[in-house]
This record gives sequence, C-alpha cells and structure tokens, in this order.
Amino acid sequence: MKITQKVESKVKQTLKRIGLSKKEKILVALSGGKDSTTVAYLLKKFGYDIEGIHIDLKLGRYSEKCLKAVVELCSILDIHLHIYDTKKEMGGSMCYIRTGIQSAFKGKGLKNCAICGVMKKWILNREARNLKFDKIATGHNLDDEAQTFLLNIFKGSPKLSANSGPITRNVADKKFVTRIKPLFYILENDIREYTKANELPVVYEKCPCALDSYRINIRKFMNTLPDKNKENIIKNFDKIYDKINKLKDLRIEYCKKCGEPSRGSVCRRCELIGLVK
Ligand code: AMP
Ligand code: ZN
Repeated sequence: MKITQKVESKVKQTLKRIGLSKKEKILVALSGGKDSTTVAYLLKKFGYDIEGIHIDLKLGRYSEKCLKAVVELCSILDIHLHIYDTKKEMGGSMCYIRTGIQSAFKGKGLKNCAICGVMKKWILNREARNLKFDKIATGHNLDDEAQTFLLNIFKGSPKLSANSGPITRNVADKKFVTRIKPLFYILENDIREYTKANELPVVYEKCPCALDSYRINIRKFMNTLPDKNKENIIKNFDKIYDKINKLKDLRIEYCKKCGEPSRGSVCRRCELIGLVK
C-alpha cells in the first residue's frame, strides 16, 4: 500500500474512534516538526474546521526555522495562525525560564523536556479556551506514546499512562479543553515518509534543548525493534487502558495563583515559576 493511503486511512479510523465532528473548532498545536504538520495537513484535507497555534520558544536559529515552516504551512493550507511569543508573554526564552527553574530546584533532576512540556500544556489549554476552541490537536505519534508507556512502566507506575490515549477522557471540566492525538496509531517512520512524499514544509532537526538522556536511551532501544513490536506495545496499552483509566485521580481544582485547572491547590506551572520569583 502506498504511504499516503496507508497513513490517511489509519488517521481517518482514529478520528472516527475519537468521534471528532466537523462542527467542532480545532486548534492544532504546530511545532514546525513533521508530526504536527501532518496533523494540520490531514485535518484540513478531511474538511475539519482548524486553526493553528505556534509557541515561539525563542531558542535561536532553531526557533526561527520552526516559525518559518509553520507560517509557510498555514499559508499553503489557508488557515489562521496564532503565535504565542514566549519572550513577550513570559519575559524570556524557554531556555532562560527553564535554567532559572533548574537552578532554583538544584539537585532535583528536573529534565528540560519535562519543564517545557508543563509550560506548553498550560499555554495551549489557556489559549484554546480563551479563543473558544472545542479541541486541541497535537502531533504525538505511536513511537512517542509507546516510549511514554514504557517509561511509566519502568517508573513502576503504569497509572501515569491514564492521561494517555488518542483523546483525553473523564476530564469534564469547563476550563479544560479536550486534547486529541490523531497520529496515536501512526509510526514515526511512516509520518516521515508521508511528509517527504507530500513535500510538506517541515523542520526535521530535533530541539537543541531535548537532552533527556533517559528518554533518548529508550528511544534508541525502541529503534532497534521492528515496527511490529512498537505497534504491539500500543496494542497492549489499548487492551489495559480501561483498567488504568479507572485508577485515575479525577479530582480537579483551580490553581489559586493562575486559576487554571490543576491537580492540587497550585498547578505545576505556577509551582515551577514560583521557584524563580
Ligand atoms: P514534543 O513534546 O516536542 O514531542 O511535542 C509534542 C506535540 O506538542 C507536537 O506534536 C505539537 O503538536 C505540540 N508542540 C510541541 N512544541 C510546540 C510549539 N513550540 N508550539 C506549538 N505546539 C507545540
Ligand atoms: Zn497555576
């Protein structure tokens, strides 16, 4: 089967399973990388109502290339692009903010990607809600999800995967925008081939700050496995997901500092930011 047909039919199946409607307004989180670019391209091709959002992390040349690719993509797809400027909104580049947090948190081993991930999730939820979107779509693919699932097992806590899956479930809170992952069942290799075959504007290089050696080692290990094995990890996840999901802590509070939905009285973002103030 040709790559275009293979990827498109699988994504269509995933969207059907998620129950995504063409009446919903979807905000696609665009990093400039191959995965989120493919999500926007496909949702537009299938006739969904989408706009894009890019968080400009201000990480020098890398961020400039990402912004350029995202602007080009949105112009090709003829969709509106929202840009969140980290320097303007947060007072510095993500690298600057992260370094401050890490030095305040000395010795606690807070990983670059973990801090950036917390900030991005917080920004995306707030922007999507304020702009009145029904869903946020991200580019997480099968390899990302299989790695996370394994990592959580290695940490001894498969329950951490309760927030995973192609759609966030059980979080019926008016301040929380549902997130979807249309590429949840698509292999990274297939996405790379798809973007090349369709000549999409993509930055293929990795973020210069992605230095989490533990995750990199899991990724390297997983890349020694045949694709079938990676697919089987996700098949396992699907089989036990309902059980894991029941273990989830459904309590949602509102952060007393920023008002965003949170698991505790102060959200993780404010907890981290509070350290450097
Ligand atoms: P990552 O955690 O970097 O692998 O990114 C996972 C997903 O988050 C991507 O596929 C995008 O949908 C979204 N994302 C990552 N970085 C950005 C960014 N700078 N701006 C907007 N969305 C992003
Ligand atoms: Zn907060």
